[in-house]
Amino acid sequence: MPDPNGFLRYDRRLPARRPVPVRIMDWREVYPPAGEELIREQATRCMDCGIPFCHDGCPLGNRIPDWNDLVRTGGWDAAVESLHATNNFPEFTGRLCPAPCEAACVLGLGGQQPVTIKQVEVEIADAAVARGGLRPQPVPAPTGRSVAVVGSGPAGLAAAQQLARAGHAVTVYERDDALGGLLRYGIPDFKLEKRHIDRRLAQLAAEGVRFRTGVNVGVDVTAEDLRAEHDAVLLACGALQGRDTPETPGRALRGVHQAMAHLVAANRVVAAAGEGRPALATLPDGTPIDAAGKHVVIIGGGDTAADCLGVAHRQGAAGVHQLDLYPEPPADRDAARDPWPTWPWVLRSYPAHEEGGERVFAVAVQEFVDDGTGQVRAVRIAEVTVEKVDGRRIVTALPGSEREIPADLVLLAIGFEGTEEQPLLDQFGVTRNGRGAVDARPDWQAGADGVFVAGDMHRGASLIVWAIAEGRAAAAAIHAYLGGVGTLPAPVDPARQPLAAR
Ligand SMILES: Cc1cc2nc3c(=O)[nH]c(=O)nc-3n(C[C@H](O)[C@H](O)[C@H](O)COP(=O)(O)OP(=O)(O)OC[C@H]3O[C@@H](n4cnc5c(N)ncnc54)[C@H](O)[C@@H]3O)c2cc1C
Ligand code: SF4
Repeated sequence: MPDPNGFLRYDRRLPARRPVPVRIMDWREVYPPAGEELIREQATRCMDCGIPFCHDGCPLGNRIPDWNDLVRTGGWDAAVESLHATNNFPEFTGRLCPAPCEAACVLGLGGQQPVTIKQVEVEIADAAVARGGLRPQPVPAPTGRSVAVVGSGPAGLAAAQQLARAGHAVTVYERDDALGGLLRYGIPDFKLEKRHIDRRLAQLAAEGVRFRTGVNVGVDVTAEDLRAEHDAVLLACGALQGRDTPETPGRALRGVHQAMAHLVAANRVVAAAGEGRPALATLPDGTPIDAAGKHVVIIGGGDTAADCLGVAHRQGAAGVHQLDLYPEPPADRDAARDPWPTWPWVLRSYPAHEEGGERVFAVAVQEFVDDGTGQVRAVRIAEVTVEKVDGRRIVTALPGSEREIPADLVLLAIGFEGTEEQPLLDQFGVTRNGRGAVDARPDWQAGADGVFVAGDMHRGASLIVWAIAEGRAAAAAIHAYLGGVGTLPAPVDPARQPLAAR
């Protein structure tokens, strides 16, 4: 029986992050473990409210009150089992999820701080490793059916694991040289050290999943090849088409890049260093892209922008500005606009924001300014207002508000426009919708018979928790399509949306 008064005895507390001056000297994760005493205290704040809205906040339907109570009472093995019943990769979500479950925690209704659900989750995930490693699950007798998964991000990997554990032969095709999707070369090590991915991949391999890296499906192998070799195909190719701003004067100047170019180059340098190989941060054509000694301007206000900020500081930037089109959000939930338990529009500060840089709100870039040699030297911005009219965004510059910010390196982190146009789409008979995503029918099929879609490729750029949930649900649909025995868990359907007030 959970402690109904724990939240009255204990305030919400999180472990202190590593000190800024120390952590920006390396690429290691910024958060230390909480320790047994603190995490058991924090799990005690879960009051067993009876109708746990956190379940609906979490797309995976994680059994949060169950494992909170198991942690409170020291039942770590049972907590590990309970968490893995709904989440293939809690070490990813426990580190990286923005935790919509916490926004939906019932404690938030009475003006209390929510339970530290995400921190409890990561402690359980790490306890799984500490208490004997991620042992492969025994797999049943082979069904004789085979599935190709295209893309090795969290959606593809979750689906692959579910299908392998149901006895199907699964091959994951990845065009990159390493597995993990955005977790590998998009998200920096200071948020997710890559050993977590490698440990999971070893578990998947031991459960029978086969991996083929360096294979660009649609180019190196065709859809026809894959369909001849496999009984079903899951497309989990992500939403990697970066939004650009071609109409802004000066966009073609040297030093103005997509944020992902910067992140991928930096991640590759860290990966090479881990293997004892020296490397420089460069674009695929060899052009250097590094913030060392530079004035960096990051355009955008989301995860990608914050990751660029953390990378720029670790590379030794001279200064960083982060520009956001929208006004500074409030510190607390505006209940009229975003009532509990929905996800509120509030100012979110990532660990990278503690490390320095200046955030500038309600501004838009008017021009990337040339230094006379074709290299950017500044960004000319104006203060703006943003309105939605008939669903369209109208940005109006305030007269006389223009000014320049020095810039040697400009990074565009202004979002993604869906999955990339690539030969694979036509070959599998799937099309991008108006948002650049690929629609799925209720059974997750997307094109020709036996072709399924999941993750960001279906949902548009989203979150890891949604990618895992969709991967699990698509695996359940594929299992049914292949005539598998019983059913696999399907936490979401293709139409499922985050909790909303209307
Ligand atoms: C910089 C950045 C930071 C982020 N930070 C967070 C965070 O902190 N928390 C969070 O929850 N979410 C975060 N996200 C979002 C999260 O990473 C994505 O929602 C998630 O990775 C989507 O998973 P996915 O499996 O659908 O696709 P992806 O992870 O994008 O994987 C798709 C894979 O498909 C491969 N592929 C594509 N086409 C082919 C082909 N033709 N043949 C073979 N392989 C192919 C790609 O190479 C890629 O590896 C972040 C995103 C970015 C860009
Ligand atoms: S995956 Fe995200 S939403 Fe679900 S319990 Fe973990 S932190 Fe909360």
